[in-house]
Amino acid sequence: MSEIDRLEEITAVLKTVDDPELPSVSVYDLGMVHKVNVEEDTITIQMVPTFAGCPALDFIEIKVKRAIEELEWVKECHVKFTMEHQWSTEAITNKGKEELKKHGIAPPPENYRPGDEWSVNCPYCDSTYTSMENVFGPTACRSILYCHSCRNPFEAMKPVVKPQISMKK
Ligand SMILES: [Zn+2]
Repeated sequence: MSEIDRLEEITAVLKTVDDPELPSVSVYDLGMVHKVNVEEDTITIQMVPTFAGCPALDFIEIKVKRAIEELEWVKECHVKFTMEHQWSTEAITNKGKEELKKHGIAPPPENYRPGDEWSVNCPYCDSTYTSMENVFGPTACRSILYCHSCRNPFEAMKPVVKPQISMKK
């Protein structure tokens, strides 16, 4: 098996490992996979944590490791979370955004800049007539909103952008 085939198989597996906080959205589609290194039968996967407040990292690490080690040709898989690279909600793939919507979670806004007003379309009816009910959703990553058009409460993922380099001392 060529290295490219191996990488493809690894990627396919990563697309099946869900984030426990966001069922049915894979760690791959959340943009958490930073780098995959294949060395014969040993795999090293570098991942970036999503929201710092999400406590599920150990759990994700074990899930990814087990899933990859299911592959017949893999002997060992190391999963490392790197803090050197910043995750942002822009890393979420289009498929990931679709999956979020299907579960009533509005994906984070695109091209968001810190300080921008954050408007969210309802994941059910796409209305923009929504309001923030509770900034503190069920997890640190999500907020509760309410849609005035279809009268459904829904969750929205908070936008996270890479910090801009500050000119202040
Ligand atoms: Zn709605």
